[in-house]
Amino acid sequence: MLPGQRGTLVSKRVSEHFDIVIIGSGAGGGTMAYALAETGARILIVERGDFVPQEVENWDPDAVWRLLRYQTRERWIDRNGDEFKPYTHYNVGGNTKFWGSVLYRLRREDFSAMQHMDGVSPAWPIDYDTLAPYYDRAERLYRVRGLHGIDPTEPARGPFPHENIPHSDGMEIIIRGLQRLGLHPFPLPLGIQRPGEADGCVLCNTCNSFPCRVHAKSEADVICVRPAIRAGNGQVKLWTNSCAARLHTDATGTRVIAADIQRDAQTVRVESPLFIVAAGAINSAALLLRSTSERHPRGLANSSGLVGKRYMAHLATMMQGFHPLKKNTTVFQKTVAVNDFYLAGARNKYPLGSIQSQGRTHGIMAKAVVPAIPLWAYNAWVQRGVDWLVMSEDLPHMANEVAVDEKGRIHLRYTPNNVRAHALLVKETKRILRRLGYPIVITHSHGAKNTTHQCGTAVFGIDPRESVLDSFCRAHDVENLFVVDGSFFPSCAAVNPGLTIIAQALRVADHIKATQL
Ligand SMILES: Cc1cc2nc3c(=O)[nH]c(=O)nc-3n(C[C@H](O)[C@H](O)[C@H](O)COP(=O)(O)OP(=O)(O)OC[C@H]3O[C@@H](n4cnc5c(N)ncnc54)[C@H](O)[C@@H]3O)c2cc1C
Ligand code: SF4
Repeated sequence: MLPGQRGTLVSKRVSEHFDIVIIGSGAGGGTMAYALAETGARILIVERGDFVPQEVENWDPDAVWRLLRYQTRERWIDRNGDEFKPYTHYNVGGNTKFWGSVLYRLRREDFSAMQHMDGVSPAWPIDYDTLAPYYDRAERLYRVRGLHGIDPTEPARGPFPHENIPHSDGMEIIIRGLQRLGLHPFPLPLGIQRPGEADGCVLCNTCNSFPCRVHAKSEADVICVRPAIRAGNGQVKLWTNSCAARLHTDATGTRVIAADIQRDAQTVRVESPLFIVAAGAINSAALLLRSTSERHPRGLANSSGLVGKRYMAHLATMMQGFHPLKKNTTVFQKTVAVNDFYLAGARNKYPLGSIQSQGRTHGIMAKAVVPAIPLWAYNAWVQRGVDWLVMSEDLPHMANEVAVDEKGRIHLRYTPNNVRAHALLVKETKRILRRLGYPIVITHSHGAKNTTHQCGTAVFGIDPRESVLDSFCRAHDVENLFVVDGSFFPSCAAVNPGLTIIAQALRVADHIKATQL
């Protein structure tokens, strides 16, 4: 039994057969299912969680932040051997259900090797132009709203499929202030559906980290998984509460033939000619590492020794500009971005990262982080604050790794890299917020425990000695195994990863249709 699961497993084994098995239903797996549903193939989506119900608790900060209603109860083990609560969610749609829906393209420069303050971020095996048509499709599919032509780091592109969300009056004042400082603020690209329409987004203050109660957020459950099941005319099946425990290969070790799925207190053997692993960067690596065999003694598809290695997460700091006499009346605040320091800092030549306004902090969220202070004090504070997220690129390092122990438990050994550049970005943002009229700036970071933007654990590349997957995310070692989630990132850039996972999933789906079906 895998950690975090309740009940007793019996060893009864039943076999099922499908044309394609997709493990995980988040950004990667959900999008793959959607893109492959039209083929008429018999597809099984295996998802360890359930549907997130539409309920009042969806938008209740107490339920989401204090009671952690939707996060996994699983515990992972950090580099010191201590257990910690990973900030991750197991449900249909995966972490996209809780995301802020900031759907960015990587910058053109992110695809090349880039010198950072603390090292080099490696090149990707594909360039921006290869992914650009899939970014176009990904933005249409996930209904991305934005305005092109302002962001100084924006790669070549046409207009966004939908107009940007208008800024509140308060954020307009901030934008004018940023422009006076010589910066180039632009509308944050967001996947939000039908704002202002009867059944659409109500632009609430519980979006990022909350599930959308009215299903207006562009996330993999609503945009991909449910439509895939409808489009599949009975050919696309979703098994919820079903956890892939292990993959088996044939005697040559070059083809996966079956997966063990733990479901309804039994282990079901699922056979298929094609397996797509999309369990998220940490769980996908863990699944491969658990799937050892005589042919794959270090874990499946791991002849390079890179499965689970070079784990990355963004260096992310939440910042709040605070003025004791200024009440912030903005409800939907997450509309502004600044990339002026993405490729070089104001006072040095190194890339620092991105700045974006963030959803409103609630008193309960702050109290969940530091419980000692009374809630009324937090409430008074957050009403007078404007929230920002600053994000810098992490750099891959062999010592940063996902591993599994003999009990199958996940170990995440991680120390952030490139911290000097991030500290400079935080300092620069503080300076900006003070000049905008916020004398007090409060910062908070989840540090090494921030697993939200996990990536890099089964990197794609050209050379099988230097990568786990080829440029279409097929395992170098196993001809019918694809890994399509955050795992494939050779570098993590400094913008949110979701749209890139989706775009690559659409690209891989096209490749599979042309070569495997
Ligand atoms: C609060 C929050 C806010 C975020 N905001 C943004 C944002 O604004 N923009 C952005 O781009 N990104 C954002 N992210 C990150 C984004 O959600 C992830 O990058 C993205 O969801 C990763 O996609 P994935 O397919 O790799 O994994 P996931 O979306 O996590 O999907 C993995 C799925 O696999 C399932 N699974 C795991 N193990 C197994 C198993 N063994 N068997 C079966 N199923 C399994 C999981 O339950 C899950 O459903 C945010 C994340 C969080 C948590
Ligand atoms: S209504 Fe809009 S702002 Fe609120 S959670 Fe849904 S998508 Fe986000």
